[in-house]
Amino acid sequence: MPINCVVGDGHRTQKNAPDLSFYKFPVDISVQRLWVRFVNNTRSDFVRSDYSRVCSAHFNHPRDFEESSLLKRSFGIAKARLLIKKTAVPSVKHPVPVNEAASAPPPPKKSRTAYQKRETERVS
Ligand SMILES: [Zn+2]
Repeated sequence: MPINCVVGDGHRTQKNAPDLSFYKFPVDISVQRLWVRFVNNTRSDFVRSDYSRVCSAHFNHPRDFEESSLLKRSFGIAKARLLIKKTAVPSVKHPVPVNEAASAPPPPKKSRTAYQKRETERVS
């Protein structure tokens, strides 16, 4: 089952936003209720299930995150999973859209073309 964020229209999946972390709803019922209320503010038809996840874009950075996991990220471990505090409640309804084109690595086409050109010149 693909992991996607239940906020709004399920805008993000782990596939199209690999930098985001996805969180299960908390076990603590009082915190869980606040999560459900937040999601219900963005889509009234939402009913929580065991597969429901909220992505890290809806949390207040850095307030809602565990310091140790933020540190790992700052040390360049980009793949390190950000952990939220047990009491953290999502609050950001409309996160800044991820510009997927800008975050994608530049295509290596240019350097390869230059290399091929050099090779061609050397041969002829
Ligand atoms: Zn989301």
